[in-house]
Amino acid sequence: MDIHTPAQGDMTTEVLNLEGFDRRLFDRTPQAILLVDEAGIIVHANLAAEEVFGHESGTLTGRAIESLVPERFRSHHVGLRHQFAEAPSFRMMGSQRDLWGLRQDGKEVPIEVALGPIDWDDRHYVIATVTDISERQRAANELHEANRRLLAMNESQTQREKYLQAVFNGSQSGLVVIDEQGQIVTVNAAALSIFGFTEEELLGQNVDILVPDSIRSGHANLRGSYMRNPVPRMMGTGRDLAGRRKDGTEVFVEVGLREIATPEGRGALASIVDITRRREAEIQTRRYAEQLQDVNQLHEAVLSSTEHLLIATDPDGTVTLFNQASESALGYASTEVVGRQQLDFCFDQAEVTARGRELSEDGTLSSGFEVLTHFPLSEGVETREWTFIRKDGSRFPVQVTMTVIRDGATSIAGYLAVILDISDLYLQRLEVQRVNRELARTNEELARSNRELEQFAYLASHDLQEPLRSIAGPLQLLQRRYEAQLDDSAKTFIEHSVAAADRMQRLIDDLLMYSRAGRHEVPFTPVDINQTLRDVSRSLSATIEESGAEVTWDPLPMVSGNSITLHQLFQNLVGNAVKFRGDSRPKVHVSAVPVDGGKAWEFTVEDNGIGIDPKFFEDIFKVFRRLHSRREYSGTGIGLALCKKIVDMHGGSIWVESESGKGSKFRFKLAASSELKPSGR
Ligand code: ADP
Repeated sequence: MDIHTPAQGDMTTEVLNLEGFDRRLFDRTPQAILLVDEAGIIVHANLAAEEVFGHESGTLTGRAIESLVPERFRSHHVGLRHQFAEAPSFRMMGSQRDLWGLRQDGKEVPIEVALGPIDWDDRHYVIATVTDISERQRAANELHEANRRLLAMNESQTQREKYLQAVFNGSQSGLVVIDEQGQIVTVNAAALSIFGFTEEELLGQNVDILVPDSIRSGHANLRGSYMRNPVPRMMGTGRDLAGRRKDGTEVFVEVGLREIATPEGRGALASIVDITRRREAEIQTRRYAEQLQDVNQLHEAVLSSTEHLLIATDPDGTVTLFNQASESALGYASTEVVGRQQLDFCFDQAEVTARGRELSEDGTLSSGFEVLTHFPLSEGVETREWTFIRKDGSRFPVQVTMTVIRDGATSIAGYLAVILDISDLYLQRLEVQRVNRELARTNEELARSNRELEQFAYLASHDLQEPLRSIAGPLQLLQRRYEAQLDDSAKTFIEHSVAAADRMQRLIDDLLMYSRAGRHEVPFTPVDINQTLRDVSRSLSATIEESGAEVTWDPLPMVSGNSITLHQLFQNLVGNAVKFRGDSRPKVHVSAVPVDGGKAWEFTVEDNGIGIDPKFFEDIFKVFRRLHSRREYSGTGIGLALCKKIVDMHGGSIWVESESGKGSKFRFKLAASSELKPSGR
């Protein structure tokens, strides 16, 4: 069927005429209406229908209805039409699904169609009212799209909110939102943990709760001035900012401020970083730096003030340190040496080579630095004397202490040489050697002249005895036999001569005794001093009795010595103690205490006599030195000299402690005898 071929136009007119239908009304109704016969031919279409399908007036009538159906639905439509013919009824066409009409210009138009059967003259017709729903559909589509967009927007809004919430809560920084009055609106987990509050405790509180007491009063003002000029900025820049924790302690913080809109209006977002750790680290670092500074200064001070030359090297011997003392002693500036010289620049190469040979017979140690570090490397440190050579070529003796600087257990960081200029020491040493040599020579001479003197004294006193006897003998005879024939003055002359001869005899005796003492080496034996004192008091019994003296002694030890000379020693001391008595009855006491860990005894011979002026303490031990005239106290002035000689011979020393008029204590040391059995008193 050619749907574009118009059918018999007259018939349509006829039908409508027959029906008496008001054609004008039909044509002018705004509802599009089509009348289709059983064959599917449009028998009438009103203006509105022609408009829907884009046809000019009157051109639709006679066309097949399928010409208004898009090609893809056409065959299906024919079937639908037959179905309708079999069961005609009023209904909507294709309800629940899209219906499309095909316009004259080929465009499709969405439509809604209501169908109804009309019978006339045994012929069946279908009346179709058609509505262009493009407009409605567009609106619906738009609504749908808008809805979709809205939905999408809503979706992304919640996503965003969730995301922001997560960011807010997950932020490492504490975040606190406050409103314009300073009340806390929102707070995140980090802020809670910084300040130690729970969320409930903070929400609705004034933010001043997080401000330390010390600055709280000024805080409201600061907050106000921020809200008046809310430029994003850091708070408290350039000074320590502290927050207050719930427990009252303070926490160092850094706070960034930013204006923010809250649901209740303007507010501020404070982002807070707990910088306590950082502050502590800073403080610690500063402290370290200060300490380091101190150490450095100390180090510098030590390096620059020490008289020692300090030269350090790296493991290869390149100088890393050359202190001021080194500069002035060696004449190099440290810039000439540090990093440029190997350590051996100031050593005498001949000495180093010789030392190398000493250290390795096979000559494996050849390089100077190897020689210098060989010993320290095995022993850790070496102190040796070397000759150093200055920049100007002059030399001086030094003592070098070379230390290995270890870096951990195994690796070597370098070497440190601590150097002492021993020029002075060296000169002193030479001087000491010279003096010692001289001393030895003098000693030898002294000993020789002493020997000669003793020899002379001995010979002289010995030889003098003979002529003295020849003078004294006849004088005594003269005195005895011719006394009656002599006048008084002759008698006096002779008396004086006899007394002088006596005195001379005593001098000669004492001198003999003094020069004899120590002339021959006598072997030491154990001597019991208790026994010595018993013998001495027997020898001195006449003097003791005559003076009424009391001579006592403690239990005394055994000493190692020569019994004869020790007898002379004690006899002289006890004798003097009795002789130099004062007005009261003489009391002499001898005691001994162990000294030198029991190796020796210190003896004291104490008296209550006239005492000795301390200025004569040394003099009295010299030969012929006396403090008194013969008229006051007899004597030759040899006794104490002999005592000193005897104590010297026994390897000890003798001295006196006294004051004029207060008695004297003569003390001396004698070696203890290994035999420790003194006899009874
Ligand atoms: P001398 O007894 O022959 O005078 P010494 O050599 O024994 O000679 O003594 C020297 C001097 O030391 C004595 O002259 C005396 O002045 C003084 N002196 C020695 N022993 C004592 C003493 N126990 N008390 C006071 N003076 C003493």
